[in-house]
Amino acid sequence: PLSLPRPLTPRVFVVANQKGGVGKTTTTVNIAAALAFGGLNVLVVDTDPQGNASTALGVEHGPGTAGTYEVLLDGARISDLVQRSPHTPNLHVLPAAIDLATAELELVNESGRESRMKRALADYIESSAVDYVFLDCPPSLGLLTLNALVAATEIMVPIQCEYYALEGVSQLVRTIDRVKGNLNDSLELSTVVLTMFDSRNNLSREVAREVRTHFAAQTLDVEIPRSVRIAEAPSYGQTVLTYQPKSAGAVAYVKAAEQIATSIKEAGDK
Ligand code: ADP
Ligand code: MG
Repeated sequence: PLSLPRPLTPRVFVVANQKGGVGKTTTTVNIAAALAFGGLNVLVVDTDPQGNASTALGVEHGPGTAGTYEVLLDGARISDLVQRSPHTPNLHVLPAAIDLATAELELVNESGRESRMKRALADYIESSAVDYVFLDCPPSLGLLTLNALVAATEIMVPIQCEYYALEGVSQLVRTIDRVKGNLNDSLELSTVVLTMFDSRNNLSREVAREVRTHFAAQTLDVEIPRSVRIAEAPSYGQTVLTYQPKSAGAVAYVKAAEQIATSIKEAGDK
């Protein structure tokens, strides 16, 4: 694969859309893997107690596995708990075990409850050579997602090419504005990814066109096709990049990663 340029400073993305099943996790792991195959150092932080990103990246995350919970509640260092993704070089994962589900409530009474991930990531960024960080979020706007929104500087929004797609997004944009005003000034919606695109379906094409009109500067050129290969890969603990490297889905995610890595606008570069 192509060797991709290193960003001037590490870029931290939160992959958000409070709608479930739109392709957040799938997009997180595949774009992260594509950047890593491009020679960049990538960290995926799994902040969803379901641990789907951990599964897809093939890392241990059974009950009791230390990961995001310990970072948020015990002050553990990310560098002590990351695991290498077995099939992809340069890709590390901070796993989420099911234990993380209780963090949502336990965090409520903690000091600095919204900014714990931000502090932990600042330490990791300082002590590692990481180029890209992706925070995968659960489909809700609780403290886990809030920690991810506060820790990031860029938001990537996967939008499924189906009816009502934009309704969820306008709600997300309001949330972003609120977080921006209160907790994180530097947050920008930088990237929109069209997922589960079906070129033979009129509605899918119509939604894609609408999203491109609405988010003209942010929407990546490539659409991620609906593909069985993409959906199957996690059951092998792999991304589609290693599971079926020549499939249309793998090619699309590589294109997406290339555009992200070569886009002129970078975090902090305003
Ligand atoms: P989220 O993290 O937003 O809940 P997921 O990434 O888990 O969404 O995707 C939801 C479901 O759709 C999963 O079963 C996943 O395998 C499937 N999926 C995601 N992207 C695609 C795609 N491009 N083609 C086919 N299935 C997909
Ligand atoms: Mg998910």
